[in-house]
Amino acid sequence: MLNSTTTTTVNRVAKSLRTRAAAAVAAGACATVALTGAAVAAEGSSSTSPDLFANQPATELADATHGQAEAQQAAAAQAGEDGDKSDKSDKDWVSPIADDYELSATYGNSGDRWTAKHSGQDFAVPNGTEVRAVHDGTVVKAGGNGAGDGPAYGNAVVIEHDDGTFTQYAHLSEVEVAVGDEVSTNDEIALSGNTGNSSGPHLHFEVRTSADYGTAIDPMKFLRAQDADV
Ligand SMILES: [Zn+2]
Repeated sequence: MLNSTTTTTVNRVAKSLRTRAAAAVAAGACATVALTGAAVAAEGSSSTSPDLFANQPATELADATHGQAEAQQAAAAQAGEDGDKSDKSDKDWVSPIADDYELSATYGNSGDRWTAKHSGQDFAVPNGTEVRAVHDGTVVKAGGNGAGDGPAYGNAVVIEHDDGTFTQYAHLSEVEVAVGDEVSTNDEIALSGNTGNSSGPHLHFEVRTSADYGTAIDPMKFLRAQDADV
């Protein structure tokens, strides 16, 4: 999904970051690890456990989050320049974004934007990018105020799936479904945006065990376990 130049650079940064972070953690010291926004985005695009960040002192995480806002803007701009390369998948479960994206804040990441650990996965994309249902289901929440989950989410949608899980899509610029709508895998349900407590254009995506805030599970682990390409 990533453009190859970006991937190479980002992987190199991520690798050195991981090495340094691992060294700091191993030494048991609170040594300052130079987390840059790009590196945070890079962590998201690898399969490395986000738990690494849970071991970092809170102040560093806050700084990382500020940097991340800039990385998110840059990533979104980059994804926009790459043009519309939607790849519709025939899979049963899919990524919520078909166009190019960069993974920014990961599940479990901490920072000053969240009162608790980050409850979802962020996909940095330009405003107005098509957001699709990751699986068949029924819309159970849709609208402003996080569709009832609070203003931090901006405009949001929650879909209930046949396996008992729920997916949530937030910070949307436009909601294109209503409560009660039946949707299929790949259906366009909204356009991405920057509404609510958002540091730049991106989709915030959650997988939940109920329709409500506070029941999130690791969305990337979950999607990959369903064989989705993310
Ligand atoms: Zn988020």
